[in-house]
Amino acid sequence: MSIRAVVFDWGGTLTPWHDIDLVSQWYAYAEIYDPEHASPLAHRLAEAEVHRWKVQQESHGAEPAGALDQLFLDEGIDITGARHLRALGSYLDFWAPHTAADPQARPLMEDLRSRGYRIGVLSNTMWPSRHHREVFERDDLITLIDAAFYTSEMPVAKPHGEAFAAVLAALGVAASETVFVGDRIWDDIAGASRAGLRTIWIPHSTVPPEQVPDASATPDAVAHELRDVLGIVESWQ
Ligand SMILES: [Mg+2]
Repeated sequence: MSIRAVVFDWGGTLTPWHDIDLVSQWYAYAEIYDPEHASPLAHRLAEAEVHRWKVQQESHGAEPAGALDQLFLDEGIDITGARHLRALGSYLDFWAPHTAADPQARPLMEDLRSRGYRIGVLSNTMWPSRHHREVFERDDLITLIDAAFYTSEMPVAKPHGEAFAAVLAALGVAASETVFVGDRIWDDIAGASRAGLRTIWIPHSTVPPEQVPDASATPDAVAHELRDVLGIVESWQ
């Protein structure tokens, strides 16, 4: 059996894990959108976000957390207004230092490409694809990605098998020819393994225990650094 593609998770995998306080990220939005009531608005948005992730988890990805725009619409926010767009800019500025790619990401992806592997990304996210594209453009990774899938724009999310099937179809490879690299043992490793992919776990993210319904999955390999992925994949050829 030969490996033809490597699919990466994004947060905590292509970017080093950062602990983010959910209310703080929404405060960056709320203090611009409604300075007088910033704290209650930030708390409501954080609660709504947590609820969406919980629904996604409890449905095993059959009901994705959805799109960021829907979160704003449910709060009664006019997403076409200038006030919202300024606040959204503040939210994205808050996130900017936390979305920087691991310095090993580009050399790894270049090495994989030079050896003929197709490269995919599959991210559980509420962000629209354009936000992710901007981040990959900023970090000079965009031209190294053959297919990127963001669950904000998909009918399912990891660990649902159809999420993995979508990226495999776009890459034109079979599950047995593909390696998935991720930091979450349940969403990424258990999901990809069940979908028939080989799995490499990046074990450095402090995923809150309540976000791991089952930690019993066993990855095919563990990469303590992103650069280790190449050697592991080559060892399977
Ligand atoms: Mg991740």
